[in-house]
Amino acid sequence: MNSQLPIYCACYKFKWIKCYEISSNMVSTMTFQVPIKLSSRNPGDSYPHDLQLYRNVPFGEITLEELQEISETRLKVLSLVERIHLQKLTMSVSQRRVALIEELYKQGLNEFGRLIKSSGCKSCTDMDIRIRRRDHISHFMLRSTVVFNESKKRWFFKQEARLFKWRFSSLDNEGIRQFMHINNFNFSPISQNEKENIREHLHMSSPNINDIDNTQFYRIPFFHIANLIRKRKVFVMQGEAFVPEQEMAFVFVSYFRRTLISSFEVAREARANLYNDERFTHIFTYLENNILTQNTVLVREQEMQQYISLDKLDELAETSYPLCMRVLHKALRKNHHLTHGGRIQYCLFLKGMGLSLSDAMTFWKNEFMKIMDDTAFKEHTYYIRFNYGKEGSRRDYQPYKCLRILESIVGPRDYHGCPFKHMLHDTFEEELTNCGFNASERSAIMKLSKDGQYFAACNKYYEIKHDCLNDTLFEHPNIYFNESMKHRTAYHYGSETGDAV
Ligand code: SF4
Repeated sequence: MNSQLPIYCACYKFKWIKCYEISSNMVSTMTFQVPIKLSSRNPGDSYPHDLQLYRNVPFGEITLEELQEISETRLKVLSLVERIHLQKLTMSVSQRRVALIEELYKQGLNEFGRLIKSSGCKSCTDMDIRIRRRDHISHFMLRSTVVFNESKKRWFFKQEARLFKWRFSSLDNEGIRQFMHINNFNFSPISQNEKENIREHLHMSSPNINDIDNTQFYRIPFFHIANLIRKRKVFVMQGEAFVPEQEMAFVFVSYFRRTLISSFEVAREARANLYNDERFTHIFTYLENNILTQNTVLVREQEMQQYISLDKLDELAETSYPLCMRVLHKALRKNHHLTHGGRIQYCLFLKGMGLSLSDAMTFWKNEFMKIMDDTAFKEHTYYIRFNYGKEGSRRDYQPYKCLRILESIVGPRDYHGCPFKHMLHDTFEEELTNCGFNASERSAIMKLSKDGQYFAACNKYYEIKHDCLNDTLFEHPNIYFNESMKHRTAYHYGSETGDAV
């Protein structure tokens, strides 16, 4: 093949990539054209900082071999991020970052170890630039890998946002200042005079800060920090929030998350254009097959388990169950019985939460024995054990995904299925009222349900329940539950350490 003949062009809006095959030495090389907006082709100018927002498309050349190697490495790093996050739920961000760095060095992933413990941009050697560039390109590869799969996209999004946050926490003051400068964030600290004028308000909004005088407060447009405002953690005046330096990471993490969400559309386009290019196909296939999002569903880590026990189920049903499981739990408590579909849906959900077989047996027995005798319960014993893979085919049955629940056939005596789809209007409204939702919250959820947007309705339910914004829709009740647990424990411990997870 002619080495000068582009065999592929992928449009990244106004930015684009060309790929060439160099036949003389049989090394495949990919050429990333410079994005029009980049001011210089000098890599030193393009990678001045160890922490990036990945807003520009990578440029330059890279062999397919290296492309594969750095993409696989990033996947390992993101998997480690998830594992450490789940194992160390009660630790602060900084502690998790340290745990990640230790693990990276242990596994020989030194480049990433170096990036993640960086304080910013103290050095700019060829080696620094090489590492930053590999970080940049590998992020783009993974981003393009996940765009067509909602759960993988969600997984990638969460791990990247987490990684960004942990990395941001290692920056020193100069590193943060440079980061703001490079990325055109013109936030400046308020003066001592201004601070005096609003001192009372700053005290009230940041009760954990004892020394207001020696704390920098930045003036930030409110739309950058909707979540901090919702949590009433900052003082807002005339559309501007006054954010203490301890909370500044939040501003940039929120920005990073928004940038990432909006970049998926471009990544979709790029990936679609690469569809028939075999050189990329096998890299993407490998990456796709190795993103194990089911970890998120069935992680039963020690730290999570301390919050899950039989005596906490009533409380968890109120705080962290998705509506489908809350309805089943309440019906079981009230009627001491569920029809077949409800028993399977709820039993597998409990198994997915990490409830042991013996606890599950106790739970179901306590309820069922209120309306039946030992002999009648024996039949149920079999099915509970069956769900746990201890009878019959002994398969390890997994909790139902939302799609399967949405396809349920539901009769008048049933409580299973997805309430956003299956529940009758009046019962549904009553259920939402029981959840403590006001009229406008109820009507927002009911409208989405009526329009057939069940996932969006479930997400709205989650957002109201958790008083937060959630960017990606749930596809599995156990993911909903796990996310809720992480949110609640992170919020709890984050607020204690002032270092939110
Ligand atoms: Fe349950 Fe999924 Fe329906 Fe939410 S969308 S209520 S998690 S089935």
